[in-house]
Amino acid sequence: MSRCFNHDDSAKTGLSHVAIPWGASGAFDVPAVWLRDNCPCPACRVEATTEKRNLISQVPLGVAPLSVSRPDAETLVVDWGEHQSCYTRSWFDSLASNSFRRPSPKIWSGGHRLTTFEAAQFDSEDGSTTGALELIHTLATQGAALVRGVPSEPGESDRFISRWVPVREVAFGRVHDVFSNPAGYNIAHTSEALPPHNDMASYANPPSGQIIHMLVNESTGGESTLVDGWNIVEQLTEDEREVLASVSVPFRQFDSSIETWARRPLLRFDDWGNPIHFRYSNQLMQTLEPDHPRLGEFYQAYHRLTELLLTPDNQAVFRLDTGDLMLLDNHRVLHGRRAFRPQTGARHLQDVYFELEDLINHGEVLANRT
Ligand SMILES: [Zn+2]
Repeated sequence: MSRCFNHDDSAKTGLSHVAIPWGASGAFDVPAVWLRDNCPCPACRVEATTEKRNLISQVPLGVAPLSVSRPDAETLVVDWGEHQSCYTRSWFDSLASNSFRRPSPKIWSGGHRLTTFEAAQFDSEDGSTTGALELIHTLATQGAALVRGVPSEPGESDRFISRWVPVREVAFGRVHDVFSNPAGYNIAHTSEALPPHNDMASYANPPSGQIIHMLVNESTGGESTLVDGWNIVEQLTEDEREVLASVSVPFRQFDSSIETWARRPLLRFDDWGNPIHFRYSNQLMQTLEPDHPRLGEFYQAYHRLTELLLTPDNQAVFRLDTGDLMLLDNHRVLHGRRAFRPQTGARHLQDVYFELEDLINHGEVLANRT
C-alpha cells in the first residue's frame, strides 16, 4: 500500500482521528479533518471534473464523527452530524498510484545504453500510438531515450515533439542552434568539452523536457556524456543531500540582449525524500556570497557531487550520429560532451524544450484511446 499513509502526526496535533481498515498491514488512522475535507459526495466535489467545492475553513479543525459504519467490506460510511460521507476502498487504493503519476524510476549508471526507437514508427498508422506510449514510458522511467532516422532538416525537433505537446520557448528562442560559433551565448557554442549539466539552470523553473537533434556530425570527438542524476543522489550521504537541497545558488545566462537569472538549490526532494529536481550547471553557476552561513559545508558537498558527476562509472558515453534525436528529462539527467575538432568536419545540433509533465500526462490521454 501507499507510502502516503505511513506518517502519523495526529498524535502530535491532538486532532481526533478515524481508523481506516484497508492498510497493507491492517488498519491505520487518519485525522478526521482530512477525511471530512476529502468527502467525495457531489456537494463537496464535482464528480465529472474532480474539482473541489467545499472549503477547509468551513470544517472545524476538531471535527469528529458521530458514527462510523461499514455496510460492506469495501465501503466506509461516516456520519458527521451535519453531513454524511461515503468512502470506498478503491478510492483509498487510487491515492497511492495517483501521488506522482509516474512509474518508479529505473536508475542507471555508466554502462547504460539508451533505449532506441525508429522515427518512422511514430508516423505509421498503427505504430504511432503504441510507439508514443513506449517512448513516454521510457522517458518517465529512464529519463532518456534515443530516436534514430530523424530527417536532418532544421526544425525537425520542433515538429517531432509538437505533434504531442507544446514547445517550451525560453528567452533565447524556440529552436536553439548549437555549433562552433564565437558569437554564441554560452560555452556550448565553442568546441570545448562540456561537463555534464542541466540546461536553463538560470530559470527558476527550467524546462523539464529537452530534445537534442544532431543535424550533422562529421567532426572527430564530441562524444555525448549522460549522467543519471538519481544515481548520483543515491551515492550522496544524508548530510550532503540536505545541504545541497538547502543552499540556494545563483545561476546566470545572458547575451547582449537577453538576461536570465535564478537562485535555487542544486537538488530538490519530494515529501518522502525522493529526488525530483537536479539543477547543475558548472558554466552558469555564479558566486556564492563569502558570508553565506553554510559556505564551508556546501563546498564539501558540492565538491563531492562534482567528483561523482565526473566519475567514468557514472557516465554513459556514446556518439550522436547524423539523424539521431535524444529526448531527456532535464530535471533528472545531465548531459555533456567531450571536446571536438571543428576543423575535421561539420557538427550542428538543435535543441528544443518542452514540459515533460505535458508529455507524461498526454500519455494518459493516449492510453485511454487504445
Ligand atoms: Zn460531502
